[in-house]
Amino acid sequence: MAAESSPTIVWLRDDLRVADNPALTAAVERGRDVVVVYVLDDESPEVRPIGAASRWWLHHSLTALATELDVLGASLTLRRGPAEKVVMGLVDETGGDAVHWNRRYGKAREVDARLKSALKDRDIEAVSHAANLLFEPWTVKTGSGGPYGVFTPFWKSCLARDEPRAPLDAPTSIPGRRVDGDSLDDWGLLPTTPDWAGGMRDEWTPGSVGAHERLEQLVKVRLADYHRRDEPGLDATSQLSPHLRFGEVSPFEVWHRLRDGLSGLAAKNHAKFLSEIGWREFSYHLLFHHPDLATVNYRREFDAYPWNDPATAGLERWQKGRTGIPIVDAGMRQLWHIGWMHNRVRMITASFLTKNLQIDWRAGEEWFWDTLVDADEASNAASWQWVAGSGADAAPYFRVFNPVLQAQKFDPRNEYVAKWVPDEGTDDYPAPMVDLKESRQAALDGYEAVKAAK
Ligand code: FAD
Repeated sequence: MAAESSPTIVWLRDDLRVADNPALTAAVERGRDVVVVYVLDDESPEVRPIGAASRWWLHHSLTALATELDVLGASLTLRRGPAEKVVMGLVDETGGDAVHWNRRYGKAREVDARLKSALKDRDIEAVSHAANLLFEPWTVKTGSGGPYGVFTPFWKSCLARDEPRAPLDAPTSIPGRRVDGDSLDDWGLLPTTPDWAGGMRDEWTPGSVGAHERLEQLVKVRLADYHRRDEPGLDATSQLSPHLRFGEVSPFEVWHRLRDGLSGLAAKNHAKFLSEIGWREFSYHLLFHHPDLATVNYRREFDAYPWNDPATAGLERWQKGRTGIPIVDAGMRQLWHIGWMHNRVRMITASFLTKNLQIDWRAGEEWFWDTLVDADEASNAASWQWVAGSGADAAPYFRVFNPVLQAQKFDPRNEYVAKWVPDEGTDDYPAPMVDLKESRQAALDGYEAVKAAK
């Protein structure tokens, strides 16, 4: 195959967008044909297979992306299998002489590193780009040169650096080359028997268009209420999380969109909102330095914690929203219904599982992984460990949330609970499955084993 006809391959992963996509832009700038591929990798041991709710999201996000690419002149090739093999196979098949992608930060980066060196061995250009984080994790260092383990100094140090770059415009056209691939429907990402995705369809519009709608809604409406972000009955948070997770909008776009045109309360709430984006960055910083964050205690002394057996301690009741504690059940039912849960309630439900039921945080992490549309390998693992007490920058262990007091404080008019637990107060609604005071004490007793292991 003649060199001029060698296409550039763009391998998309957690960056399902055409705007501010450095890998795509660089590929277009090379001036050759562009092959855009997405690989469903359920086989590489370093890649955690995504959960059921995320698969639903992915299906719709890929559909939306294919349409956007089509308008620009490119098509999306779908392939399935171990990514290293699939991408190398595509290089052979098309005669591609360059592969570009945007970086990922968990264990899967081992796959990318191997592929990069295999490509380079064959004199094929392999370039990874910074696209999904404002600050590359290895560039943020403490005074002594190590990674951060505490959020506040981490974010302060990020904010003291040069401002994140401006987002890149989408290419005006892409000289796409069509290459055969799988049909999306054949991947079976959508639930069929039963189809449990109705609530998710009503709530979300996966894809860049939906992401930008949420961003505009944040800027124009929600940010003014963001100081009340802890109230789950209000729509005061952005709900950008699944869009950020799948890279339908980049953090650079969010950062810069929020710089201009804010006034009044929205302007006041700006720093607080950015610090939540900062927690996302911090979670990735932790994941980068601790690739086993979803399975291994960050504070290893927690290996000594005497967890209960999930089956007998009531994991299933928690999953189904039948604990008899209304705010916990409301959260778990919201999760089941729309694939998302309000942050305050994520903390309450996670605390209830790990402290009042003394069930290992990993069981909760896995359930969220399967049921959240924003299930994120960094934020989910870091947040679960944070709540359980085993994580970085965790609150003192004795501060166990009391879910009843939390509900009084953050859902004072009972709006959230009434929406998700209409059966509260009926004969059908279960009595509390544990005594909150006794179970809190049992959690503290369990913590003694951690203290002893220190
Ligand atoms: P906003 O308040 O509008 O925040 C804007 C963005 O900042 C979010 O979209 C998200 O990307 C990021 N963000 C906000 N809070 C956090 C946080 N505490 N940690 C990391 N990033 C944050 N977030 C996920 O994106 N994926 C997860 O799998 C996930 N699992 C969680 C599990 C538990 C047990 C807990 C307590 C929190 C978890 N979070 C997770 C963090 C947080 O709850 C969600 O990011 C947030 O609720 C998303 O709603 P939003 O987009 O309206 O947030």
